[in-house]
Amino acid sequence: MACHSEDFDCSRCTEAARRERGCYERASRPVVSIGGEKYYRCPVRLIRPWAKWVLGLFRHYRDGHLPYSGGVMDQPAKLMQAFLVVASVIEEETSDKVRNPHSAQGKR
Ligand SMILES: [Zn+2]
Repeated sequence: MACHSEDFDCSRCTEAARRERGCYERASRPVVSIGGEKYYRCPVRLIRPWAKWVLGLFRHYRDGHLPYSGGVMDQPAKLMQAFLVVASVIEEETSDKVRNPHSAQGKR
């Protein structure tokens, strides 16, 4: 999953894409697979506003920009912990795709 907060906006999808991705009702096939769990609904519906905020900041953090002034030790501990969780999930999902390139899409 990309870490661009603008990616979590269903209004940017076409009507056909919204239907296919389960924005309105359960899709006929998995829309996304996270940690081996398959989801048949639009994943945007599952993302809480604070998580969108963390993912948006993570993108800048990953590019070397800290959210608050100062160094790493000046950042809120909870935010740094959230970044560690995001990084570990990305690492997990990325290494899983390297091992099994079909794992994220579901087998067709
Ligand atoms: Zn949606």
